[in-house]
Amino acid sequence: MYKTMEEKKWMRWVACIVMMFAVFATTVFARDPEIDAGIAALDEVRAFLGKQQDDAIKNEDWAKARRALQKWRMVVNLLGILRETERKIVFGGVRSKTALAEVHYDDGSIHLHKVLQGADPRVIAQHLAHEASHLAHLDKKGTLDGEVLAWQEEMEVWVQFIRIALRNNKAIGNKWCDDVLNAVLNGEAKLRGHIRRLYPKFDKKDEDKIEKIPSHLYRAVFPSKYNVFFDEGKYDRYIGQHAIGPRNRADSYSAGISVTVAPQAVEGGQFDEPADQVKFLVANMQANASNFDLAKNDAIELDGVPALRLLFSYDIPVGTELTTRLKEEIIVAKRETSLLTIVFSADESEWKSCQSEFDAFLKSFRWEP
Ligand SMILES: [Zn+2]
Repeated sequence: MYKTMEEKKWMRWVACIVMMFAVFATTVFARDPEIDAGIAALDEVRAFLGKQQDDAIKNEDWAKARRALQKWRMVVNLLGILRETERKIVFGGVRSKTALAEVHYDDGSIHLHKVLQGADPRVIAQHLAHEASHLAHLDKKGTLDGEVLAWQEEMEVWVQFIRIALRNNKAIGNKWCDDVLNAVLNGEAKLRGHIRRLYPKFDKKDEDKIEKIPSHLYRAVFPSKYNVFFDEGKYDRYIGQHAIGPRNRADSYSAGISVTVAPQAVEGGQFDEPADQVKFLVANMQANASNFDLAKNDAIELDGVPALRLLFSYDIPVGTELTTRLKEEIIVAKRETSLLTIVFSADESEWKSCQSEFDAFLKSFRWEP
């Protein structure tokens, strides 16, 4: 088929427009060399992660490989999304004086400090994972929860790198990454405190959230001779109602009843399910309490709601050589998005004399509709 003059003319026009657009595009959309460096770093990280995935498949048994892959997939997906959405990754332009990386929410770009240019791709991946976490959880923007999550997610990445390096009898270390790792390993409560000390701006926002914990989740009658007071967590989120009972004969301990309500982990607390909390409590007591003796770890009902119960004894020091043996009963239940924990505590040798009061309290306990 031959072309008519009209068509040829039209095609010249099109070619001309395309060329003009190309010239215009290279001027307007020309990449900043620092952005190119950011994209090159991202590609390097992705290639590195891809190779690690392959290694995981080659060297591990399938169960392990799958676990590794699940973690990697998160990171690779994260980086893939950053790459595909042409999220600008720029070396330089970090506004905060203390940050090594940050998100600029006005244009969605991620800025890495220039000192990271040419750094180990694993270190860059870890910082990108932190910032990508912020972008993935925009609902938590600027909150302590968002920051805690970013620290935890970046550490999932770093721990994988450490694990693989160790398996190959190598070690990797990076002051910043290792500091973050230590903070995360200390547990969420301490991590929250640590981040608050680093960034005091989170203090106020978190207090707002404490007030949102439902304080009228239940009602119960405390023994009349107990002194009842309220408190709320400054660093961990909870509200508590505590009752101090009679002193023991040795004058070393007061019996007590304590009820705390904390949000589920998804709402900014420490645990999602009663089972998580009970598991943590038992592990913690086993590791730290002297002569810990677990008598019961079973399921019960608390005013018709499934609950878990622990009954145990342990020694507390009351002088250089003296100890008092305590007995505690702990009941944990979930209601809406909160976990409620009841603790009964007394000198073990006087447990019987307190038990009728503990039982009466439990009998009076009602969930608010
Ligand atoms: Zn952050």
